[in-house]
Amino acid sequence: MQVAVNYPILARSQQDKTSYGFVFQGLNFYQNSFNIFAGLNAVDNKTNVELTFKALQATGLNCARMGAFKPRTSPYNFQGLGQDCLPYVFELAGKYGVKVIAMEVTHDRHISLISKILEQLGNPTSVLLQIGTRNAQNFELLKAVGSQIQFPILYKRGYGITLEESLAACEYIAHHGNDKIIFCLRGMKSQYADPHRNFVDFAHVPVIRRLTKMPVGIDPSHAVGNFARDLDNIPDIFNATAQGIIAGANMLLVDVHPDPKTALVDAQQAINLSDLESYLHDIEICRQAYLKRTALFEKIHHK
Ligand code: PEP
Ligand code: MN
Repeated sequence: MQVAVNYPILARSQQDKTSYGFVFQGLNFYQNSFNIFAGLNAVDNKTNVELTFKALQATGLNCARMGAFKPRTSPYNFQGLGQDCLPYVFELAGKYGVKVIAMEVTHDRHISLISKILEQLGNPTSVLLQIGTRNAQNFELLKAVGSQIQFPILYKRGYGITLEESLAACEYIAHHGNDKIIFCLRGMKSQYADPHRNFVDFAHVPVIRRLTKMPVGIDPSHAVGNFARDLDNIPDIFNATAQGIIAGANMLLVDVHPDPKTALVDAQQAINLSDLESYLHDIEICRQAYLKRTALFEKIHHK
């Protein structure tokens, strides 16, 4: 990999051990912090948004994911509720203490729309603008999200391009003025991924942290794509989550639903809200293990 040539703003120099990142809505998004964004892949109705936010609040989470503009393979698939759902999504987020919502935008007009509706409501919450894997090289969209600084960006790695190409795409965002970017791994399209939806690429978590100044996210839902369980009764999605966190992931983007079988998009990969507590417990074990590992190697390295 040719380091830094294609992403000079985002690259870190080899000797530099600084933990880079940013503060947003009073929350730390750094290369040594950890935030969980759980929520609906696609907003289907107001009740499910409320049930989801309520469950997040009950478990102490203050970030969420909510899909309103859905890029779908077929034009005959549910396309997302679009702008119609934004007022109640934002209002309910405020009601349940959700400070940041990761929300995909597929067109530059979605940025000003989100901003306008938030403002009309008195900014009860805020948004991390998500660039989906299908738009990983939509350079006009990347320039558009890069040309505003109201919202940070959650960039999802392109599922069929090289890591270098995805990093260069992020540089478009930074080059246009916004370097508050989280780089999210979400699996790579490959026939070898079968029976998973995508080939899980979370071994790249430490690579992104080493090469760039971006905090790194993981999306185990889209990576694994189904809720099968292993011999120990642990869902593959939980195991993939563990891999990413134990390797130092800084954020987790995950699909949950009050009643997964009725979800309108990616129903087979959503975690039932009733499993959320055990999932979070498992995550805490992994994060603690990560912190113990870094302490161990810090000690060895400084001997
Ligand atoms: C999503 O997070 O809802 C999504 C569509 O993800 P990706 O772009 O990674 O497929
Ligand atoms: Mn999806």
